[in-house]
Amino acid sequence: MLTNNVAEPLKSLDEWEDDLLLRYPKPKAETQEKDKQEYRNYDDPARDTVREFYKLNHQFQTFDFVMQKRKEYLAFDKKEMTIWEAFDFLNQLVDDSDPDTDLSQLQHLLQTSEAIRADGHPDWMVLTGLMHDMGKVLCLFGEPQWAVVGDTFPVGCAYSDKIVYPEYFELNPDYNNEKYKTRLGMYVENCGLKNVHMSWGHDEYVYQMMKDHIPEPGLYMLRYHSFYAQHRENAYDYLLDDHDREMFKYVDLFNPYDLYSKVPTPPNWTELKPWYEELVAKYLPDTIRF
Ligand code: FE
Ligand code: FE
Repeated sequence: MLTNNVAEPLKSLDEWEDDLLLRYPKPKAETQEKDKQEYRNYDDPARDTVREFYKLNHQFQTFDFVMQKRKEYLAFDKKEMTIWEAFDFLNQLVDDSDPDTDLSQLQHLLQTSEAIRADGHPDWMVLTGLMHDMGKVLCLFGEPQWAVVGDTFPVGCAYSDKIVYPEYFELNPDYNNEKYKTRLGMYVENCGLKNVHMSWGHDEYVYQMMKDHIPEPGLYMLRYHSFYAQHRENAYDYLLDDHDREMFKYVDLFNPYDLYSKVPTPPNWTELKPWYEELVAKYLPDTIRF
């Protein structure tokens, strides 16, 4: 069953994240492999919207598309907001589809940051949790779902078959491009991710927004949190340098807080706000440019 809007197959952005949870369920010892395998039955009709979403994503995330979006968004000339205005802005993304079970974007951010705080991690990591999905405002600037969320992957070289639904890359014009179709494509063995362009979405955008304000491990968490083909599957080891490998320990540390911190009771924002106001004031400027 497809939704009416072919360009926006997901009922909500959360559908991608709910699907991630099925692909990478919270470890429960022996049952995990079984759940995962059962889930790998890709014919489940419940996954059609997600499949349709990935088809668009894999088809249109070309090297040229990434370059075009970087030019468009990394100028940061769209909007200037305080962090609190930005959260209100982001929260306009609340859905339509499932108002009872869907948490607002702010609630997901707070649950992530609160889970990090409860485990006693440094305050910059709490801030990283709070900010990590701010890039989803791209949707509010008119970007389609497939250019905002979804697993990210390098462009400019062969697409790994460890990326979910790899068969759809055959629809991507870069798939047959001589420059890009080889294992290394335009890159050099172990050149480091600083030299690699990733598919465009909320990760790169929020990284660029925060890069002068958060310590480097937090920046890796922001920039690569949807790069499942690497942080879960190690599919691109040959592009990483030693520094990336060191920093991916932090990406791994972050991922469970993002995926497994969702609980049905929303955090009490009013109670928490003073603590977060102090945190934000410590690291971030008064306004952020989008
Ligand atoms: Fe995210
Ligand atoms: Fe998230």
